[in-house]
Amino acid sequence: SKRIVIKIGTSSLMTTNGKVNYQQFDRLAYVLSTLNKAGKEIVLVSSGAMGVGMDKLNISKRPVSIPGQQAISAIGQCEMMNLYSRFFSHYNQTVGQILLTRDIIEFPESLKNVTNTFDALLEMAIIPVVNENDTVAVEELDHQTKFGDNDQLSAIVANIVGADMLIMLSDIDGFYDKNPTTNPDATLYHTISDVTEDVMAKAGGEGSAFGTGGMITKLKAARYLLQHNREMVLAKAEDLTIIFDILEGYEIGTYFTA
Ligand code: ADP
Repeated sequence: SKRIVIKIGTSSLMTTNGKVNYQQFDRLAYVLSTLNKAGKEIVLVSSGAMGVGMDKLNISKRPVSIPGQQAISAIGQCEMMNLYSRFFSHYNQTVGQILLTRDIIEFPESLKNVTNTFDALLEMAIIPVVNENDTVAVEELDHQTKFGDNDQLSAIVANIVGADMLIMLSDIDGFYDKNPTTNPDATLYHTISDVTEDVMAKAGGEGSAFGTGGMITKLKAARYLLQHNREMVLAKAEDLTIIFDILEGYEIGTYFTA
């Protein structure tokens, strides 16, 4: 496979006490730059604007108002890109920011512009870093503009760039027959070929404190990709060199593949 989309969540970029996890930024920069140098085309979908913004402002609770949250996100997105730019530059890798809203699906003209931008960046061996544009897309209120979450956004991005694979990194090492956080006897699935209602029913709970979607949104992303003849791997973000192993074909995490 050549074109790869990698999605990383807030819980993998922040420490448990809400601080930026600089080691993770560094490792991500190292792994993705190395792959890029080896000829892979890499797109990174990164959450974390809210978490990074809260750390920057030294606050521990999300503002209640939506404009308040959007303000933190605006601050955090800027700071997060600053971190990416700096850490990737240590590996001589340039990144570019792409902020998206749902209208790329509604308006073919917008989609065309987005596709052209991705292609131009990848052509220049630059790694696009994608996030939802929280200034425009408002949570819950606006289903026209909001993707819902970055898990589903990453699946849409994988489809529009024609990716060979989406690597979905999480705080969990794969998809289990029941929520392993609350069921120690849960067993890992190595392969899922169809995301049925039965499969969806095995995802429980709301996910981590920092994560937003939990397992449901990851399954929706997988279902979308399977419908579009693409594949997804769900794996743990703790040691990011796992990305090398996945691309070398080792059986790691859960493969969603037909
Ligand atoms: P992230 O923040 O890494 O994007 P989330 O914390 O939102 O991820 O979602 C992953 C969590 O989903 C797991 O840590 C686990 O608690 C929960 N979960 C619920 N059902 C399952 C399941 N069947 N298999 C694996 N994890 C599950």
